[in-house]
Amino acid sequence: MTNDPSNINQDQEGVESTIVSEKQSDQGTDLSRRTFFKRFAVGGGAALLGGGATYAAGSASVEGRIAKDYPETNEDFKPFRQKNTTLSYAASPVLAARDNTRMEQFKKLHDKPADYFWPKLFQHFEHNVPYDNSRPGFTQLDGALQHASWMPWANWSGPKGKMLLFGGTGVPNTPPYTWDQSDKHENKHQFTDAKEAADAVRSAGRLFGALRVGIARNDKRWNYDPIYDLTQDKELSWEKDFPFKPKSVIVMVVPMDYDGMATAPSRVSAATAGIGYTQMAVLAGAMKHFMNGLGYNAVGAGNDLAISGAYGIMAGLGEGGRNNCLLVPGYGPRVRICKVFTDFDFEDEYDQPHTWGITEFCKSCKKCADACPSQAISHSTEPSFYPDHERAKEPGYNWSNHIGVKKFHTDAKRCVDYWLETDSDCGACIASCTFNEPDFWHHWFIMAINPFTPKLIHGLMAELHPAFGYGSTQNPEKVKKFWRTGEGMRVNKHNKSTFGTSNIS
Ligand code: SF4
Ligand code: SF4
Repeated sequence: MTNDPSNINQDQEGVESTIVSEKQSDQGTDLSRRTFFKRFAVGGGAALLGGGATYAAGSASVEGRIAKDYPETNEDFKPFRQKNTTLSYAASPVLAARDNTRMEQFKKLHDKPADYFWPKLFQHFEHNVPYDNSRPGFTQLDGALQHASWMPWANWSGPKGKMLLFGGTGVPNTPPYTWDQSDKHENKHQFTDAKEAADAVRSAGRLFGALRVGIARNDKRWNYDPIYDLTQDKELSWEKDFPFKPKSVIVMVVPMDYDGMATAPSRVSAATAGIGYTQMAVLAGAMKHFMNGLGYNAVGAGNDLAISGAYGIMAGLGEGGRNNCLLVPGYGPRVRICKVFTDFDFEDEYDQPHTWGITEFCKSCKKCADACPSQAISHSTEPSFYPDHERAKEPGYNWSNHIGVKKFHTDAKRCVDYWLETDSDCGACIASCTFNEPDFWHHWFIMAINPFTPKLIHGLMAELHPAFGYGSTQNPEKVKKFWRTGEGMRVNKHNKSTFGTSNIS
């Protein structure tokens, strides 16, 4: 899945491929750059020069600043029932049959029977995915990539097969997100202080493959309550069913490949998300066993147990975007998030929500909303406590929206419907985002000056993004480009004889 569209969207590139991606992104954008420089001369220069002065003055920082009351909630807020995510209904024939009204709302979008959803959803992971070799992004080559990206899940999930394969993204207590604590060491390791513990966890996370690691307090507001187990169609309680009382949540993000996501919507962008989910599972699985090895209880989670984007904010890793994704400085929404719940207490070493002016920037930038093929993303200027999309006023329609939290609410039914309609996990809202950029120095510069640039300039900055050749979606050329990106991976690209026999003799 690209996102769990019900929530802050990553409920959201593998190894650091950005060095390769930078070079690749350089290609083919010369024309756009010339256009950019013309526009830059007119207005963009003012923004950069003004921001540059601030930067030079030393007041800008890519560290962001603490935002204590973020995210904001109101009196109507309560923890979200996991059952009420759109994907629960799309993936569970039992739920679909039990609550036909909700399925009727899906049906209004496309007039398909209720039992259309879940077989379609599982088709994404199967080896015999339908293909069309005349359609870039949906050929057998592209389908094989998508299938392979999820296959480690199949090996972990064993006889329960498909359900767990899908469940890897949202079903609790499934391998490798097991609730079993039998691996716990009998001796509790004692750190000198909480800082030593937090540093050790961050170092272990980096070794396991995390791009960034944040540590949040367990916060009941963001935990799904009750939890929902799709494999049994059963609600689970934190008090009665969960194996321990969690104190802390270790939140980790893995980056997704820039060129893979740039193909959205396609099977290649779906594969980019798929391998992200696989990496999440390795990462959270390893961290769970690390905490167990230190003698503490721990459970890893993908999209299950809690709203990942919200925990990403609580752990100071990024801000919530209009597209309902966690936007991480330097990567934007092009990350996936996993969590590890533990009873270890990090005392005064918890991270806090931060702002880099990203949510503020979203008020002027609507690139993701414009790019969304299903019109699922809000075009409103201000975030709100309640959904305000086209059908939001229909009685009973907002069952998948988390009301009472101030954000840009999406119409997730439209999003899921589009995935199934097009056989793609889409991801256009990730690929098009102004903050989704390769790791160039000038992108970090813009990141650093953003909080200090006036709102008026944000719209201009968003306009300059496509002028650089970034963020286009529905572009078959990006698929062709993706399949050439491996070329840069060859170590001896310019000297084929380096490892050949001719140099040895
Ligand atoms: S662009 Fe729209 S349809 Fe596509 S994943 Fe994002 S919200 Fe869903
Ligand atoms: S595309 Fe623009 S509006 Fe949408 S999340 Fe990214 S910065 Fe915000």
